[in-house]
Order: sequence, then C-alpha cells, then structure tokens
Amino acid sequence: FCGSRSLLRKNSLLIATVLSVPAGIALGVFVRDYVFLSHLDKYYFGFPGEILMRMLKLIILPLVISSIITGVAALESDVSGRIGLRAIVYYFSTTVIAVVLGIVLVMTIKPGESYSYTNVTSPGNSPDVSTVDAVLDLIRNMLPENLIQACFQQYKTKREKLPNFPLETNSSETVIPEHCFLFSAYTLFFTKGFKFVGSYSDGINILGLIVFCLVFGLVLGKMGERGRPLLVVFDILNDATMKIVQIIMCYMPVGILFLIAAKIIEVEDWSIFRKLGLYMVTVLSGLTIHSTVVLPLLYFIIVRKNPFVFVWGMAQALLTALMISSSSATLPITFKCAEENNHIDKCITRFMLPIGATINMDGTALYEAVAAIFIAQLNNYPLDIGQIITISITATAASIGAAGVPSAGMVTMVIVLTAVGLPADDVTLLIAVDWLLDRFRTVTNVLGDAFGTGIVEKLSRKDLERADMTLDSGANSL
Ligand code: ASP
Repeated sequence: FCGSRSLLRKNSLLIATVLSVPAGIALGVFVRDYVFLSHLDKYYFGFPGEILMRMLKLIILPLVISSIITGVAALESDVSGRIGLRAIVYYFSTTVIAVVLGIVLVMTIKPGESYSYTNVTSPGNSPDVSTVDAVLDLIRNMLPENLIQACFQQYKTKREKLPNFPLETNSSETVIPEHCFLFSAYTLFFTKGFKFVGSYSDGINILGLIVFCLVFGLVLGKMGERGRPLLVVFDILNDATMKIVQIIMCYMPVGILFLIAAKIIEVEDWSIFRKLGLYMVTVLSGLTIHSTVVLPLLYFIIVRKNPFVFVWGMAQALLTALMISSSSATLPITFKCAEENNHIDKCITRFMLPIGATINMDGTALYEAVAAIFIAQLNNYPLDIGQIITISITATAASIGAAGVPSAGMVTMVIVLTAVGLPADDVTLLIAVDWLLDRFRTVTNVLGDAFGTGIVEKLSRKDLERADMTLDSGANSL
C-alpha cells in the first residue's frame, strides 16, 4: 500500500497531466455544445493554454545556449567529434528508415486513389519556391549574420504573392473550408491574397544558435583555466533554467486542459476527418510502427534494455509534444525526463537534445513522404522510381530544414512537391487535418531524439568513461 502511494506521489504530475487530457476534451465538448461563445470569448478561453506555450518557449533560449556550451566544453574535441558522428549517423539512418516506411505504406494503402479529384493546376505549375532557395536558406540559417537577431528570427527568401490561390477543385469532397486554416505565421503563406513576405516571424533561429554555441563551447573548453569562469556561468545558468522548468511543469496540467478544450471549440468542421480518413490512417500507422517497433527494436539491439521502460520515462515529454505540437517547446521537458527518469549522461543530453529537436524529425520526414505521394495519387500523377527516390531524399532534407514548431512540416513540404513537379498548392488540401497529424509526428520526433541519447550514450560509454569526462564530474570540478 505504502509502495503504491509513493508511486502515485512520484508520478503525480504525470497522472495530473494525463487526466487533464480527457478533462480538456470533456470541457471542450461541453462548452462547444452547451455554451455560446463569441469569437472574442473563444480567444479568451484559450488564454491559460497560451500562457503554457509562452512559458515553454521562453525557456528555450537560455536552455539551448547553456546546455550546448557546457555540454561541448566538457568533452575534448575528438570525443565530441566521435559522439557527434554517432549522433549524425543515428539521425540520418532513422530518418531514412522512417521515409522508406512511409513510402511503402502509402504505396500499399493507396489512400489518394479513393478520391474523385481533378486538379486545376497541372503538375509543374508550382509556386516560385525552389529547392535551391530552401537549401540556401538552411545554410544561411546555420550562419546567422547577427546573433541577437538569430534569437528571434529565421532567414527566409522573400517571395511575391503565390499564384493560383485558393485552389479550386471540381469535387466538393476535397474542398477545405477557410476557417480550418491555422492562424500561425507560417500558414499566412497558404492564405488567399497574402504576400509571402519573407522571414519566419515565429520562433528562434535555433539552428544558427546551435552552430554558434557548438563552436563557442569547443573554443571555451580548449581555453582551459582562462575559459573556466565563463563555463561556470553557463553551468549555473543551465541549473537555474532547469529549476524554472520544474516550476513550469507544475502549471502543465492546467495549461494542457485549456489548450485542448480551446482546440475542440475552435474546430468547426469535424467531417473533414472522415473525408481524409484513409490518408490519416496511413500517416498514423507509419508513425505508430516507427515509434513502437522500429525505434524500440533499434534501442533494444544496441542498448540491451527494455525500450518500453525508456518510453515510460519519457511519458511526460511525449504527452507535452502531443499537446503542443512543437519539439522545440517540448525540449525543456525532454531534458528533464531523459536526465532524471532515464538517467542519460548530461554530456550526451546537453550535446544531442537541442540538435535533435532541430534536425532529427523522423515523424516529419515520414509524413512528408506520405503526403507527397498522396498528392500524386490524388492527381493521377504516376511516379517513376527516380521520382520516388527524389521524394525520399527531399523529404529527409525537408525534415532537417523544418523548425521544431507547429506545422513547420507543412511548409517545408513545398520543397518535396516542387522537386518532383507536383502542384505545391495542393498542400492546402491537407491543412484542415494537419493540426492533428502534427501532434502525432511531433511525438515521434521527440521519441526519436530521446532514443538517440540512449543509443549514442551506450555507444560512447567507453569514450565517456576512459576520459572520465561525464559532465557531473566536470561540473563538480568547476
Ligand atoms: N511540429 C513538428 C515538430 O515540432 C514539426 C512538423 O511540423 O512536422 O517537431
């Protein structure tokens, strides 16, 4: 009895967060069906959820900066090089597996062939967003010209208003009502009459900050005694930040309850889920297989421990990802779970998690491949093997380029579609259900990052032990 009480107490936050989901759904359904809310009331209703998102986003900047700098500085450059290489091999191989899985599923289930759909845009008549521009933007973002600006803005090539909006279809089956558009800075891109005005206004240029902090941490580590005072500052900053995360987590059940209730009130056309059902089933099956079979199996083969115990340790982070659709905003919770529940070496988490949240997106890559082939099937556009390979390469690249924010994968999907000459406008067909799929692919993204730390830690054990350089011992000597 005592044991179960202490188990309850230990997991009380997780239990409260889990319970907030059905409570939020019930509240949302009740308010939607029985209480009249004006547009303004709906806006106010979502406020407690907005507060949670703001707090999580607020903490990203100090967390990323302090964790990477202290993580890298604690390792010698050849050790960090080896760990970095292992991380990149893991990121790349799991992303490719996810893409291949998505392609196999969408080619087998063929969700796009069950629709009667005639597109007015002929393939090849895509908007002016080139793959080259996207790749160049990725590199530009890695090297921000202004560090302060990188803290609140990503670079994006400017474009004029996109042609052929909104997409007209002959079939009422696939028309997406305008109120289903997501009101984020990203989706202004898809909205009728808007200019594609350049840089993303949502979020931080995390990639740029990561590159800078990696170099800065390496240099600081190499400076020895002289660099030590600054390292102590970043180490304290990291500890303080994690303590703030603990406070934010106490608010999480309330925030999640209102986030989910507000979403249920906001969505007016639920029938779209039936209409795009088979497509959603394809994406969700792929994400489920990747998260419950592929990644756990890989973990088991390499680490030789029960992967589901590891997943349980990450439960709070996975639930957060499901609720807020952002790997970056989930990052503080991912850190907490990986370090405190799964006891991953801080050297590894500090080094890998911020990078993983930014470039390792298995769920997004799988989704982009499925969505692109779904659009080809809708258009009766036959894909040859070369185009399928192109889709797999561009889906991998697009997932690396996508920021860890809600619906980022929708935007970078334009790269995939353009690369094979599919009408990029057709992403508008998927927007109405994207808010839901986004949540599940974000869970897969976060899980992929977490498993990565466990696997790379195991592979790097000897490096870490031989050099006796785990961050704990490094921090003690600071
Ligand atoms: N929301 C996803 C994430 O933050 C990215 C995406 O849109 O696929 O991981």
